[in-house]
Amino acid sequence: AHLDRISEVDSEIHAFLHVDADGALAAARAVDETIAAGEPASPIAGVPLALKDVFTTRGMPTTCGSRTLENWVPPYDATVTRKLREAGVPILGKTNMDEFAMGSSTENSAFGPTRNPWDRERVPGGSGGGSSASLAAFEAPLAIGTDTGGSIRQPAAVTGTVGVKPTYGGVSRYGLVAFSSSLDQGGPCARTVLDAALLHEVIAGHDPLDSTSIDAPVPPVVKAAREGASGDLTGVRIGVVRELSGEGYQPGVLASFDAAVAQLRELGAEIVEVSCPHFTYGLSAYYLIAPSECSSNLARFDAMRYGLRVSDDGEHSAEEVMSASREAGFGPEVKRRIMLGTYALSSGYYDAYYGSAQKVRTLIARDFTAAFEKVDVLVSPTTPTTAFRLGERVDDPLAMYLADLATIPANLAGNAAMSVPSGLSDDDGLPVGLQIMAPALADDRLYRVGAAYE
Ligand code: GLN
Repeated sequence: AHLDRISEVDSEIHAFLHVDADGALAAARAVDETIAAGEPASPIAGVPLALKDVFTTRGMPTTCGSRTLENWVPPYDATVTRKLREAGVPILGKTNMDEFAMGSSTENSAFGPTRNPWDRERVPGGSGGGSSASLAAFEAPLAIGTDTGGSIRQPAAVTGTVGVKPTYGGVSRYGLVAFSSSLDQGGPCARTVLDAALLHEVIAGHDPLDSTSIDAPVPPVVKAAREGASGDLTGVRIGVVRELSGEGYQPGVLASFDAAVAQLRELGAEIVEVSCPHFTYGLSAYYLIAPSECSSNLARFDAMRYGLRVSDDGEHSAEEVMSASREAGFGPEVKRRIMLGTYALSSGYYDAYYGSAQKVRTLIARDFTAAFEKVDVLVSPTTPTTAFRLGERVDDPLAMYLADLATIPANLAGNAAMSVPSGLSDDDGLPVGLQIMAPALADDRLYRVGAAYE
């Protein structure tokens, strides 16, 4: 049914870069046998999934939305991919994304944008617009994204779906093509909080192949989602972050947020206003740290070890081949990030830029720690605006960067955060997301509150 739906709508939506009908059907048939034998591999065995094209898949192309990896077929599976296969989850295909996950609209994909199923003239958010759009268009019931600065939560918000950035280190990064290693985190996308929890438990857990993977039990997210479904939040303290709702937010987004807070109070939660003064500097710190790490990580696409190779005609030096190949293989936003990052890391500027940004990062983490002494979770709107129009921000990088104003603090601090649908905006009738943030390793709190609210 999902493959049929993909054939029906994906020429318009363009959520997928690659569809693996044969592989998905073979995996589904294999699961039928385990179910017949009464031994399904997991609670979601047989439930198909759309995988962001930034996770390696053995035998299936992995492009990261970039020309430089066009037609690359990895020889190995990412840990997330392996866990999905072992859990009997058929992989429908690979989803569209901003090139190397850099962007907030999926318009930076080298293979053309994805359209928002709610209004096809609008973006589905980014960088994981393909994954979230596939859910909103009913092409897949489950998807996987990655969130470096908001790329799971922001697309979830603007497509009316659920997206979770687990605690940093909660889901293995092995085989997740690196953008900014200290921020990147894979996580579940779904249409309901319980579905996301079931997927979360399949992909999470310690992995010796990722040195930043946390060696601790996976938080009991399914149990929490089931408890939350009762709708009782008595005894839960919820902090409203003053710095993340006000200037720069659309009136319809703020109205939806106020209604969400009122509903949480009705469910029995105690609502407290909380100030996190350094969150205001999150965006500036992120746009130094993320490009710095990107400039280092993307050095491997040098036409020798990885990536497109052009001008390899015996007439050009190795350096010329590398330079021409990177010129042809990367799009404008990736080049901008590499240049910004190389500059910020260069000797003489390191302390002024990267060093300062790391200090801000510590201050933001301290804001979270202080807030979580008073409350169990924090809430804010996920995004300042609803889905914007295709083309509206492509020539204005700063306007594009602003889409992640509210999501970036959780990445910088490494704690867990979720976006859950919060109705439609009075301004334009488009979906709005409520962001819930929890301390590191307390991902279960997101699911309890999210399931009670949805
Ligand atoms: N939009 C942000 C950026 O462009 C976040 C991307 C992400 O989370 N991968 O860097």
